[in-house]
Amino acid sequence: MEMKTKDIYGSLVFNEHVMKERLPKATYKSMKATLESGAPLDIDVANIVASVMKDWAIEHGATHYTHWFQPLTGITSEKHDGFISPNSDGTAIMEFSGKELIKGEPDASSFPSGGLRATAEARGYTAWDPTSYAFIKDQVLCIPTAFCSYTGEALDEKTPLLRSMSALSEQACRVLRLFGKDVSHVTTTVGPEQEFFLIKKEDYEAREDLILTGRTLFGAFPAKGQELEEHYFGVMRPVVSAFYQDLDDELWKLGIPAKTKHNEVAPAQHELAPIFDTTNIAIDHNLLTMEVMRKVAERHGLVCLQHEKPFDGVNGSGKHNNWSMSAPGMNLLDPGDTPKENLQFLIFLAAVIKAVDEYQDLLRVTVASPGNDHRLGAQEAPPAIISIFVGEELEAVIEAITADDDSYTAAPKLKMDLGVDVLPKFTKDTTDRNRTSPFAFTGNKFEFRMPGSAMNLSNANTVLNTAVAKELKGYADELEQAEDFDAAVIALVKRTIRDHKRIIFNGNGYSEEWEAEAAKRGLYNLKSTVDALPVILSEKNLKLMEEFNVLSRVEMKSRYEVELEHYSKILHIEARTMLGMSRRKLIPAAIAFQADVAAGASAKKAVSETVSTRTEERILASVSQDVDEMDVAADELEALLNKVYKLNGMEAARCYHDEIIPVMARLRAAADHAENICGKDYWPLPTYSQMLFYVE
Ligand code: ADP
Ligand code: MG
Repeated sequence: MEMKTKDIYGSLVFNEHVMKERLPKATYKSMKATLESGAPLDIDVANIVASVMKDWAIEHGATHYTHWFQPLTGITSEKHDGFISPNSDGTAIMEFSGKELIKGEPDASSFPSGGLRATAEARGYTAWDPTSYAFIKDQVLCIPTAFCSYTGEALDEKTPLLRSMSALSEQACRVLRLFGKDVSHVTTTVGPEQEFFLIKKEDYEAREDLILTGRTLFGAFPAKGQELEEHYFGVMRPVVSAFYQDLDDELWKLGIPAKTKHNEVAPAQHELAPIFDTTNIAIDHNLLTMEVMRKVAERHGLVCLQHEKPFDGVNGSGKHNNWSMSAPGMNLLDPGDTPKENLQFLIFLAAVIKAVDEYQDLLRVTVASPGNDHRLGAQEAPPAIISIFVGEELEAVIEAITADDDSYTAAPKLKMDLGVDVLPKFTKDTTDRNRTSPFAFTGNKFEFRMPGSAMNLSNANTVLNTAVAKELKGYADELEQAEDFDAAVIALVKRTIRDHKRIIFNGNGYSEEWEAEAAKRGLYNLKSTVDALPVILSEKNLKLMEEFNVLSRVEMKSRYEVELEHYSKILHIEARTMLGMSRRKLIPAAIAFQADVAAGASAKKAVSETVSTRTEERILASVSQDVDEMDVAADELEALLNKVYKLNGMEAARCYHDEIIPVMARLRAAADHAENICGKDYWPLPTYSQMLFYVE
């Protein structure tokens, strides 16, 4: 096994090892400089790299190449071009130029742009992100790229992410220089834990709702849910185990360090976590992992559900975003062993606390989606309120630092050292116990637990990086002028904690008391996507993204439009799917069942007037009521859909949220009630028991 793993790991990746082996020395050196600093490649170098890359790809079975990018649809996109270039004599050669490697020009008109790009100016271009290695997938050489409009506006998730990473790098380097560390760049790191469900393919195929919307829109709660808590970390079903083995193989070939796998809380729910990596690479890998998971599941007769809430009543799926900052050889969120290192740790910690408090609304909106609306605040995932968990130990340190409230700039040296000295080396065990916190310090990194399983994490990390860059910039400006550096750092940390303490909460985030307490503290509680989206356009948030050239006002506006439209589109599809399923399948099924029950009762009465038909009558009454309720709700839903067609933007989204969702809930409740009464052979959908527990 070990031999095998070692041989396959990264075998489909044009990684540094391959570059070193195959590229001419000088080319390799330029390439390495680019990998490390993001310096642009010149065209001569790119030509050599492209030619070597093509030969390598062909040796590994590739015939085509694609620029692989992340438009605002939330998924990845690709358009395949053959390497083939015909000669006039009827033969052909395989070609791939530096220009083709560096830049592509897909027609951008059919991707969402939020009004950024009129179809008349349909051209967009993709630009190579050389820091994320090219790889081969299904005989296609995939080149990770960013996607922009012809005039340079970002049309994708990766462009702002890369911009935010360099913004943070620049400011973090300034702060580190003050600590005597002359580093040239700081990267942010991410380790995403991906949750998902695996169900049988035949069950999936029998459910229009799963096929069209990724979640069940109907389905009575089964006799058993997750109450016994035996699934979490339980022994895997053999079919799941085989899936994971196959998945590991495929991911390792792509150089994705898949590491931890286990059953999750809900039945049929699982998790996969890789070893963390530089943010843009970790996100590319996560998107690739999601795709490979879906394909591998099919090979095992399964379907991998990545929606945030495929099943009502059991836990939904999230994607925990473990995040830190690192300079060569050091994790900046790792508390040090010496007072000086502790000071450095404290300043970065303070920057994160301040950033999360000041931009809690913007961070919240990065995890807003119709799917995630079912999770946040639903007693299973963090609430829609952002707060930070720091753990008891760190809280004590923070208390100690802030206790002395005299003067922030001239606090006695002795006391300061004392305050910093008590900072112990953290162990994960003592800090990572609060599963209800949306943003938790876990010893040497923060874990942002709000993102949903289906999301591209770029947006969340873009905001996090930029907000932290902003605070580090303020700190660097101030500290560069300081006469007594240590005292100034302590003063800054104190001030930050004093001003932003409201964001720190170590208690139970699922409790109602917290919601009341958070309101008292003035924290945002943006309950749904529709409530959250407008904050994208607040002046404070526009300014932040503009200041660091991450997203211009125009780009922010376009993202707001795209998200708003996305919300309405998803709800539209869900509502229509419900309407179709209830009218064409569920209502007819319930009526057929009633007809048989009624016929049976008449037949009984025909034999003898005195025989009891009490049960039949009660069943008929109950199902009739359900069917009537379904019919009324379906009509209302249809009327509302006719109304919402005439609305646009926020008005439409509000109508879906405030009026359509409640009617969908009523339609479902009536159907789910009928499901529990109608005979098993009549109900046309696989049940929750069948899907989650494989009960026949
Ligand atoms: P949990 O207890 O939440 O299941 P794990 O121990 O499984 O957490 O790790 C979660 C993720 O955190 C892993 O992907 C791991 O690689 C990642 N991680 C560890 N250190 C860092 C770091 N410095 N930056 C980003 N992610 C990290
Ligand atoms: Mg976790």
